This record gives sequence, C-alpha cells and structure tokens, in this order.
Amino acid sequence: MPTDGDLEAFGEDVARFCEERKWSQFHTPKDLAIGLTTEASELLELFRFLDEQDIQARLGDQAFAEEVEDEIGDVVFFLVRLCQVLDLDPVEVAQAKLAKSREKYPADEYEGDNWTVLE
Ligand SMILES: [Mg+2]
Repeated sequence: MPTDGDLEAFGEDVARFCEERKWSQFHTPKDLAIGLTTEASELLELFRFLDEQDIQARLGDQAFAEEVEDEIGDVVFFLVRLCQVLDLDPVEVAQAKLAKSREKYPADEYEGDNWTVLE
C-alpha cells in the first residue's frame, strides 16, 4: 500500500505485513537487530571495491540503482520493525540523538571536520 513517504503510515503497513504472515513470533529485538545489520551489510556489499567514481557510474545503471534501493528498503523495514517491537518512535529517537550530536559537535567547532565519528 503506497504511503507517500509518510513513515508512520509505512509503519502501519509494516505491522500489517507482519501480522498477515504471523511473523511477530520471529521478531525479537535481537533477531531484528541481526536482520538490520545483515541488510545494512548487503547494502555495503554493493559498494565494495568501488571507488566514488565507480559508484556514481554504476548508479546510472537502473538495475544497480534498483538493488541499492531494495537494500535501503530492507534496512528501513527492519529499523521500523525493531522500533515497533521496542515501542519507540524512530523519528523521535533519531531527533533526540541528533540533538545530542548538535550539543556534542557544535557546528562552529566541527565545520569541515570529518575525522569525528558520531557515536
Ligand atoms: Mg536485502
């Protein structure tokens, strides 16, 4: 069901998808975190051994771009599902973390500094 980019509506669709298949029994936080990491690794694998120029060239190929989109879709699915199981709002937790990062890395001190890793 199209959700027009609405994450809350997408979450409802994900819940319905899982209920229809009776998959909730498999959705422990640990297993969903494993799924999330596995899908993120599948996304990373698409870029493995490619430099930035190669990646940009490959993204012009529709089949490759679709593979990237599919893996991003898998990552978002697992992230949304994990948040459901943990009773968290994904946007709220991301905003809270962004606020912490703003405080930890003031723009006037970290502008242009990409050596800093967000933890
Ligand atoms: Mg996948």
